[in-house]
Amino acid sequence: MPGPFVVPVHGDTELPKEVDCVVIGGGIIGTSTALELAERGLRVALCEKGGIGQEQSSRNWGWVRISRRDPREVPLMAEALRIWARLSERTGRDTGYARAGIVFTCADDKEYEQHERWGRHLQGYQLESRMISAGELRDLLPGSNLDVKGALYTPADGRAEPQKAAPAIAEAARDRGAAILTECAVRGVETTSGAVSGVVTERGFIACKAVVLAGGAWSNLFCGTLGLDLPQLKVMNTVLRTTPVENGPDQAVWANNFAIRKRQDGGYTVASSMSNLVDIVPNSFRYARDFLPAWRQSGDRCNSDWVVVSFTRQGCRPAGRWMRRAPSNTAACSIPSLPKKARSAFLQMPARHFPFWQRQRWRSAGPAISTSRRTPFPSFAPLTRFPAFMWRPVSQAMVSASGPRQAG
Ligand SMILES: Cc1cc2nc3c(=O)[nH]c(=O)nc-3n(C[C@H](O)[C@H](O)[C@H](O)COP(=O)(O)OP(=O)(O)OC[C@H]3O[C@@H](n4cnc5c(N)ncnc54)[C@H](O)[C@@H]3O)c2cc1C
Repeated sequence: MPGPFVVPVHGDTELPKEVDCVVIGGGIIGTSTALELAERGLRVALCEKGGIGQEQSSRNWGWVRISRRDPREVPLMAEALRIWARLSERTGRDTGYARAGIVFTCADDKEYEQHERWGRHLQGYQLESRMISAGELRDLLPGSNLDVKGALYTPADGRAEPQKAAPAIAEAARDRGAAILTECAVRGVETTSGAVSGVVTERGFIACKAVVLAGGAWSNLFCGTLGLDLPQLKVMNTVLRTTPVENGPDQAVWANNFAIRKRQDGGYTVASSMSNLVDIVPNSFRYARDFLPAWRQSGDRCNSDWVVVSFTRQGCRPAGRWMRRAPSNTAACSIPSLPKKARSAFLQMPARHFPFWQRQRWRSAGPAISTSRRTPFPSFAPLTRFPAFMWRPVSQAMVSASGPRQAG
């Protein structure tokens, strides 16, 4: 577990017979969807196969950022920053949000120019973001010895506590009338005359007119049960946390090969900014053509340092098919154990640049799973075949990507 314990959310004991919308998945996406819908007066049931926020949504870096996003995401991110700024107040709970700024360092002139060019996408938004020199960076991050050309510094960016955010949002959705059902995997969607009429869950049937799938890494699997093909692959990263650090930077920092973010408890969440594990699984070949444009777009970020390919281990591989009327084997669908190879590669990186960190201990390290999509920019995915079934892969910073295609 890469951070403090996830704030526990106790699921409701009673399963509603009928609601307007069932949301599948209790990560940041599902809980946010449930809150938005409940605030609009809809009857909502959120079904989570395990506990709220127990998967990827509690294992990320906790950055809330607009900087260095795909330009097509900028309008959505500007709105996300606005939402985050008052999320603790809106939910009546602590999400850990702080507008502390984010720094992207530039190793050389080329990178400096790239970051500077990117900054122009924020023109017209009243969001502070600017290029700073190496000298200004040293003033901003006292004690660091980063040998860089300069940095993109975005004070408008911030951070949140991943272990608190999704639970806070789920509780707020419940305050507004949503049913929060944990340990309640959805096994399938029922249709009547081509329209969604309900979902079959581990705990029984819930009639509904619409379904939003926010199943994270399992969405491809779930879509398969409906005859829908969602091109989605998994990428594994490693996230560590340190013991509390005195006088460390308040800003989150992305450097050449590591990324750090201060947490509420005074420690840091540390990750490699470059290394990911990609398992070669049957879907890798199946979706190779779909992912080619995204791969190409990654350009020189996609090299052998960035991707470690493993033929031997299948990250988060479910055991068997997810059957509608048979047990869904949710135990097999959990985040897998940490690959040692990924951890050792970057364990010491930040300590080299922040020497005063060398006295710190690593408290824990854990795996994180992200899902790769065909395109890096946002979209929603309503389906003509199931008009009221939606895939909503909006991330913690409210990002989403391309949607499923319909078989046949
Ligand atoms: C290393 C790393 C760092 C990241 N850092 C950041 C960051 O700094 N900022 C940021 O904005 N984003 C970050 N992300 C991305 C962010 O973590 C994800 O976009 C986000 O957590 C996805 O949320 P989710 O709700 O879609 O998925 P999840 O949190 O995985 O939630 C999906 C939920 O659906 C449930 N589920 C699945 N199938 C079913 C079913 N059939 N029935 C019931 N429940 C089901 C699962 O149990 C799970 O709880 C990072 C990702 C990684 C890997």
